[in-house]
This record gives sequence, C-alpha cells and structure tokens, in this order.
Amino acid sequence: MIYRLLAKFNDDFGLFVFFLYLAAFVLAFLMVFIFPPGALALMLLGLIGFVGVWAVVVVMRSFERLLARKAIGVNRCPCCSKDSVFSLTPSVEWDSVVSCGGCGQLFESGGRRVQPEEDPEADD
Ligand SMILES: [Zn+2]
Repeated sequence: MIYRLLAKFNDDFGLFVFFLYLAAFVLAFLMVFIFPPGALALMLLGLIGFVGVWAVVVVMRSFERLLARKAIGVNRCPCCSKDSVFSLTPSVEWDSVVSCGGCGQLFESGGRRVQPEEDPEADD
C-alpha cells in the first residue's frame, strides 16, 4: 500500500514540479511589472529549489527501492501484493530482472521498476 503510493508519487513528482515552476514563471513574469525585486527573488528561490527537488527525488526513490527489495525478498510483489509469483526474465540492460506473474511488473535486483524491453528484431 505504502509502496504503491510511493511509486505513484515518484511517477508524478516530475510533472508536479514542472507545473510548480511554470506557475512560478507566470508569477515572476507578472512581478516584473509590479515589483521587480520580487521577480529576482523568485528566480533565485527557483534555482535554490532545484537542490530541494533533487533531494526529494533521491530520498523518495531510495525508499521505493528499499520497500520493493523487502517485498521481493519475501517473494511478494510490491505492486499487486501477490505471493510467490516471480520468474526470472532475461535482460540485456540489467543483470537480474524478475517479473511478476500477477501484474507483469518487472523489477531489477536493486528494487527499481523496469520497463519491458522491446524485442530488437520485432521492429524493422
Ligand atoms: Zn505484481
């Protein structure tokens, strides 16, 4: 449950930050005419805010991977909570990838969610 919320948060956080910065840009643009130092302050705040955004991304993704590793360690899928449904899937990019038989989600050994690889011979 916590894992799914965390995964959803990590998926949508980038878009949320994008819209936050877009709103800040509009506000800064309006401030140029009303209160110019405010626009400068907002720009500096935005630049410093990148450090905060980066920290949130690193911490939340590491929590997600930690929860996924724990769940996979006891043979439970972190996404659909089904037991003992994992099968090893060959992968070019990762050294060890397991796939869930219940929901089809792939995980690499570090707990990161992996997108299914496209068959290189499928498209021509
Ligand atoms: Zn699953």
